[in-house]
Amino acid sequence: MSPSAPPPRRPGYDTRVLLGMLAAGLPGILASALLAWLVPLPSAARLVIVLLAVTGWISLALAVRSRTVGPIRTLANVLASLREGDFSIRLREEGVDGSLGLAYHEANRLEAVFRDQRIGAVEASALLRRVLAEIDVVLFAFDDAGRLRLLNRAAERLLGRSREDAVGRTAGELRLEAVLSGPAPRTLELSHPSGDGRWQVRRSIARQGGERLRLVVLSDLTRALREEEREAWKRLIRVLSHEINNSLAPIKSISASLIEILEDGAARDAADEDLPRGLEVIHGRAESLSRFMAAYATLARLPPPELAPVDVGEWVSRMAKLETRSDVQVIPGPRTTILADRAQLEQALINLVRNAVEAAEETGGAVSIGWSAGGDTLEVVVEDEGAGFHDAADLFVPFYTTKATGSGIGLALSRRIVEAHGGRLLLEKRDAAPGARARLILPARDPTAQPGP
Ligand code: ADP
Repeated sequence: MSPSAPPPRRPGYDTRVLLGMLAAGLPGILASALLAWLVPLPSAARLVIVLLAVTGWISLALAVRSRTVGPIRTLANVLASLREGDFSIRLREEGVDGSLGLAYHEANRLEAVFRDQRIGAVEASALLRRVLAEIDVVLFAFDDAGRLRLLNRAAERLLGRSREDAVGRTAGELRLEAVLSGPAPRTLELSHPSGDGRWQVRRSIARQGGERLRLVVLSDLTRALREEEREAWKRLIRVLSHEINNSLAPIKSISASLIEILEDGAARDAADEDLPRGLEVIHGRAESLSRFMAAYATLARLPPPELAPVDVGEWVSRMAKLETRSDVQVIPGPRTTILADRAQLEQALINLVRNAVEAAEETGGAVSIGWSAGGDTLEVVVEDEGAGFHDAADLFVPFYTTKATGSGIGLALSRRIVEAHGGRLLLEKRDAAPGARARLILPARDPTAQPGP
């Protein structure tokens, strides 16, 4: 056989079933023809018998083929409609048993699974579309050629264009090149019809219909910052007016009485005592106001930390010894040195120790300081057995105080110092006993480590 000769064509499955049936009946037909030949019968009768046998044989073979192949065709049709996404056709299982019944049953179950999955997918994508439309973050999807393929409602607002107008345009045409290039996440200034602003850019890769899409998510930082700022101002103004009024009200009323006394000749002679006392109050309140302003200045003008190695054990022990009102127990931790601004850290810790001692004084409880170092963080914990507090949210608000002579600056200043060092300051209730626990968490950079390449 030449190598280029086409392979012999095999008869199809349906034909093979028919040929198989014919082959199975062939011996019987031959036997009946032989019998008809051997039995003494007229030729016409012999012919009729042979014809009847052959017709019956062929009809039977055709019937078997149709019974065998028919259900397979039906099954194929149902599978084809499943592939087309038509889940309305179900196979009738009644009266069908054996392996065909099993095949019908499995095909029907497959159809039910596909239908449920299709409903789930439709619902999920409807939900996703709704979420994308409602969320505030701006979302774009660009294809590999840099053309916009998808955008949500917030993105339409940012561009000042409708979806129909924007989809298909390049990032350049939409003045969005910056969001597709450069590192991400990062903060970016964008100016667009909806206004200029600062945005945080995040990028990721997604696939839709086998196509690679670059997803760009922009979160509006300007609005978040503005709201945060407004809240901070509100809190600050509340505390400032409280503090200023506390001083101004007595100054106003006492100075008014003193003026009255001085104007009234008769009263002036009797004012020998009232005058100095009134002036003393005015002086005291003015002093308190200037102390308050000095504290405010400290908070507002905190310089950036000047980093140098600080031995944690030494720092903690020195702060504990500074407190003379009661004994502060030091629970030694591992020997650790960190890079920090020594003066600022002392300021931060002394505020925490002072608060703990003042809280513990009221109950006669104890105060302790300990530290632990794990991974790349250092945690200094100041614990007291005072009465504790109700809600930690207000305590860090500048100038919030519950003490008669308090400034309300300690915790706010300590937190600013710790955050300027890249750390966190938390005030928590103690787990099992009354009292508070201040946790000062700092990055424990090894001062001897060489900077990386
Ligand atoms: P000040 O000590 O001048 O009041 P702070 O900012 O240091 O200012 O503290 C603010 C408030 O937080 C305190 O007035 C007090 O009510 C509360 N506070 C701080 N530390 C503790 C503590 N260890 N236990 C209970 N309350 C505390």
